[in-house]
Amino acid sequence: MTKKILVLPGDGIGPEIVQEASKVLKCLKQEFALDIELEHAPIGGAAIDALGSPLPQKTLALAKECDAILLGAVGGYQWESLEISMRPEKGLLGLRSELTLFANLRPAILYPQLAAASSLKPEIVSGLDIMIVRELTGGIYFGQPRGIRRLENGEKEGFNTLVYNESEIKRIGRSAFAAAQKRNKQLCSVDKANVLECTELWRETMTELALDYPDVELTHMYVDNAAMQLVRAPKQFDVIVTTNMFGDILSDCAAMLTGSIGMLPSASLDANNKGMYEPIHGSAPDIAGQGIANPLATILSVAMMLRYSLDAPELAARIERAVATVLDEKLRTPDIHTEECRKVGTEEMGDAVVASIMREYWHEAGMNQNLENTAHECIGSGGLSNNAD
Ligand code: NAD
Repeated sequence: MTKKILVLPGDGIGPEIVQEASKVLKCLKQEFALDIELEHAPIGGAAIDALGSPLPQKTLALAKECDAILLGAVGGYQWESLEISMRPEKGLLGLRSELTLFANLRPAILYPQLAAASSLKPEIVSGLDIMIVRELTGGIYFGQPRGIRRLENGEKEGFNTLVYNESEIKRIGRSAFAAAQKRNKQLCSVDKANVLECTELWRETMTELALDYPDVELTHMYVDNAAMQLVRAPKQFDVIVTTNMFGDILSDCAAMLTGSIGMLPSASLDANNKGMYEPIHGSAPDIAGQGIANPLATILSVAMMLRYSLDAPELAARIERAVATVLDEKLRTPDIHTEECRKVGTEEMGDAVVASIMREYWHEAGMNQNLENTAHECIGSGGLSNNAD
């Protein structure tokens, strides 16, 4: 059955990077019979300007109907003075909660070709491939009561509530065990069970859940140790599962191990693996419109979509191999550029990924093609328009 993909380009570099990711999807549709339909809608600042809301009703309705969402990024200087409930970021948060996207999967992969970009020594990070599964819709970021109150002595007091019930823990646990089953079958649950009762329950529940996944080895680690281990010996981890706040912090730390924000995809999934896929970076207003943004994180987000929501892992692997190949070919957008490499723009990088996918395909089929303009042959010389799919 045809799968519906909602494309939300958003703001800043969003439309530029999503354009390149859409090219890859269109290539897979045309050449590999991937049965998809793309639909586009505004979100964030673009939606505020066009329709007066960061998450227009129509965008939300389309998001509820579709099988997966591809998002660029939201936000920008021009909307920063708006009241908080009207800011572009509310569009994104609204989608996450309306669709109950509780499982945030953030891989931190260091391509060996980019080892020099990490702030850690190459031997510590080379070959790094971690998946962090962060609970996204509960925990201390949402717990009630919360606020700032005035005490009897006149002093102010800030307070938040860390709360997880068993079903919330089981729900994120199942996503993490399933992710581990698709990888090296090692799951590390991160908590602070020695101090916080809520995460004592987290640890107990994960341990019980492990009985349902005998093929996965479950270990536990306190969050302070996990932070230390991530910078000391990060390759010891396969999949990490943790709470909303711990995951927020640890996933940014893991992202920096890879050295480049422009390379990292993410997925936010519901219980049925419907998901929203987006690069981990923001809308980069400082480089928007210059054609120099790195589209690889968004293209790799498409690979995650194929793996988690569209059940097409072999096509996901094609994209991932193509990204590795363009890096081998020493093509680099400015954010990952080093001296001996060739600097390319957003569009050229996207075309190179499509060309690499096609080159591998033709090689397998024993076809001898002129590869000079591969991407254009695949997607048409006019490129992609929003209604072309
Ligand atoms: P950012 O991630 O947009 O940019 C940080 C730095 O990384 C900038 O120098 C930028 O040029 C660079 N960068 C980011 N992505 C890049 C790419 N693909 N290629 C090359 N360079 C890249 O973070 P910020 O500057 O803190 O935020 C900018 C806006 O994005 C803000 O409005 C913020 O609220 C928003 N934001 C949105 C999301 C999202 O949509 N998920 C996430 C984070 C920030």
